[in-house]
Amino acid sequence: MNIFEESKKYIPGGVNSPVRAFGSVGGEPVFIERGKGSKIYAVDGKEYIDYVCSWGPLIHGHADDAIISEIEKALKNGTTFGAPTKLELELAKKVVNMVPSIDMVRMVSSGTEAVMSAIRLARGYTKRDKIVKFEGCYHGHSDSLLVKAGSGALTFNQPSSPGVPFDLAKYTLIADYNDLESVKRLFLENKGEIACIIVEPVAGNMGVVLPTDVFLQGLKEICENEGSLLIFDEVITGFRLSPGGAQEYYGVIPHLTTLGKILGGGLPVGAYGGKREIMEMISPVGPVYQAGTLSGNPLAMAAGLANLKKLEKSFYIELRKKSEYLWNGFRENCKSLGIDYAFNSIESMACMFFCSGNVNSFKDALRSDTKKYAQFFHGMLERGINLAPSQFEAMFVSSAHSYEDLDYTIKTHYEVLKSIK
Ligand SMILES: *Cc1c(COP(=O)(O)O)cnc(C)c1O
Repeated sequence: MNIFEESKKYIPGGVNSPVRAFGSVGGEPVFIERGKGSKIYAVDGKEYIDYVCSWGPLIHGHADDAIISEIEKALKNGTTFGAPTKLELELAKKVVNMVPSIDMVRMVSSGTEAVMSAIRLARGYTKRDKIVKFEGCYHGHSDSLLVKAGSGALTFNQPSSPGVPFDLAKYTLIADYNDLESVKRLFLENKGEIACIIVEPVAGNMGVVLPTDVFLQGLKEICENEGSLLIFDEVITGFRLSPGGAQEYYGVIPHLTTLGKILGGGLPVGAYGGKREIMEMISPVGPVYQAGTLSGNPLAMAAGLANLKKLEKSFYIELRKKSEYLWNGFRENCKSLGIDYAFNSIESMACMFFCSGNVNSFKDALRSDTKKYAQFFHGMLERGINLAPSQFEAMFVSSAHSYEDLDYTIKTHYEVLKSIK
């Protein structure tokens, strides 16, 4: 029996996170044995150039020597204490130094946990219950965030998963990305009741969708006027777009920020941070409860620290050069094939949508031909290039990708697009 079939007997769907099961592209997932640099190696020995990079964390590629060596050092001292360590202080200082909005930070173990905790904090701080999120943005799988807009005649929003109480979903208001009017309308209808707006400053979970020039600043102004908090969910964009994430890149400083993915250098870490006055609402200083047995885990802190230490300004210049080389190659391919697919990119993240015109919103993204994407995905995979098994995800370039990798990828991109045209 193959590994996938056997896994399905013991693990729901054979996977520990649903998108890995290839549901939206068909076929069977590749089981990975190891990774090094830009490459991953499957259990059958096949080699792939990897642009998933574990969905973002691996900005230095797989099994980076410096990170592995720091994890090994920490490992020898013990894997967990449930008591404070110096490594936590060091990583906290590093994060505070790098991310403009963060005066104080609390470590947790996943992006989901970071966002869930930041929302609780925003509610506790403002003494309000409602929150605003944008359709198409993903913030992990906590109850308050698994909510979608009620369609047609439905007044209230709907849980997007069974198990989320309808009564809880009512507190999550849904706006349209890049549409400030839709946000203003919600604030008018819910005067004095909205604790926070949570947003991916660059959306990375509906493909890649960039904010318009006025969007992020507009959200900040609405929050300031209404006594609400602005939360940037920088789980993807943090340390990806610049040392200080999207907030530094766009010069818009939110009240709270959530981090994950790159922060942990490949180990399970999330964090939330912000203004001191707000962060001091968290227990044990303040009344808002949040805790974790493995929070600030020494292996995870060591990996995160080694990871962030390599993120100098010059690092981003090199990474941008590589990324632009690849993105330009893709754009040229489309041009010479006479294909007008939307292609959104920023720094080292990008997404090609299988539709024409611009993609500036979730509705635009939904115009994509996902069947075509599935063909493209499998064409690339067969030729040794690993992309996300879904149209609505980003692809990531790491510093470990070589120009040889990029040239092969550009050439293959052309061949595959041509074959499915
Ligand atoms: C991945 C992601 C999360 C959830 O992080 P997990 O570590 O998977 O729980 C939250 N927000 C954004 C923007 C993400 O991309």
